[in-house]
Amino acid sequence: MKIAVCIKQVPDSDKVTIDRTTNRLNRAGVPAIVNPFDENALEMALKLKDANPGTTVTVVTMGPPPAAEVIKTAVAHGADGGVLICGREFGGADTWATGYTIALAIRKLQEDGGPFDLVLFGKQATDGDTAQVGPGIANNLGLPCLTYAKSCEVAGGDAFRVVRMTEDGTEEWEVQRPCALTVVKEAGELRIASLRGKMKAKSYQPPVWGVEELQPNPDFIGLKGSPTRVSKVFAPPVKSNREKFSGTPAEQAAALVERLAARQLV
Ligand SMILES: Cc1cc2nc3c(=O)[nH]c(=O)nc-3n(C[C@H](O)[C@H](O)[C@H](O)COP(=O)(O)OP(=O)(O)OC[C@H]3O[C@@H](n4cnc5c(N)ncnc54)[C@H](O)[C@@H]3O)c2cc1C
Repeated sequence: MKIAVCIKQVPDSDKVTIDRTTNRLNRAGVPAIVNPFDENALEMALKLKDANPGTTVTVVTMGPPPAAEVIKTAVAHGADGGVLICGREFGGADTWATGYTIALAIRKLQEDGGPFDLVLFGKQATDGDTAQVGPGIANNLGLPCLTYAKSCEVAGGDAFRVVRMTEDGTEEWEVQRPCALTVVKEAGELRIASLRGKMKAKSYQPPVWGVEELQPNPDFIGLKGSPTRVSKVFAPPVKSNREKFSGTPAEQAAALVERLAARQLV
């Protein structure tokens, strides 16, 4: 079985600020981490690899040169290898251009090494937070996509059995391969890197693919190929007309119900 996992390097979200002139994230000098949900996606891939000998796990990331680090991290934890999509031309991509570019790289990996059975993504990235890129890439590759997956196992034949989270419980699906999943944290924490993995990662240099390797349509990549722009970034205004109830919990609850009833909310 062949699995691809898309992982993104994101700023450590506690420390990120926004440039008020350009409305972009100030990434310079901010510590970078693997997007936490992508760690869960990688763990799902590694569990499938444990259960199905011969499985390979390839990670794909798009970002500036330091993003190679997330591929090395994935290798330390058990991935077989990865590819970095990198180049000035890709900079400033919105989710549409990102989805186009990463899909091109996955297609190229398939041309070189055969089709993937499964393409995994995190549920969302903690910086952009749109949750659009996974389903976007699945659409570009013509793959069915299940979101919020918490587990995946081979179901026999050509199918996977997938459990996905919903607001009020779980759903169990059987889906034909090849398919794509976006993965939630309930899939499990990424395992600890083994000493062997760390040694392999130390010397591992992922291939770097730019416009020459991917041959993209220049109108579909980077800032120029991005149909959306962030026009304004702002914190929602804080409303100051708050009221604090006092008394016992029962008295506070009764006062709240009275106020809501007065506004015909109950
Ligand atoms: C309207 C708009 C305008 C933007 N403009 C700019 C801009 O001008 N400059 C700029 O730098 N950024 C910009 N961004 C942010 C940039 O588009 C996103 O960081 C990027 O497209 C990924 O989207 P996301 O972070 O929402 O990922 P999500 O869709 O939340 O990510 C879901 C999953 O997709 C995969 N994934 C996402 N991105 C990558 C990646 N790069 N490599 C590998 N896997 C990935 C991961 O598995 C991830 O868990 C913009 C975003 C929007 C919505």
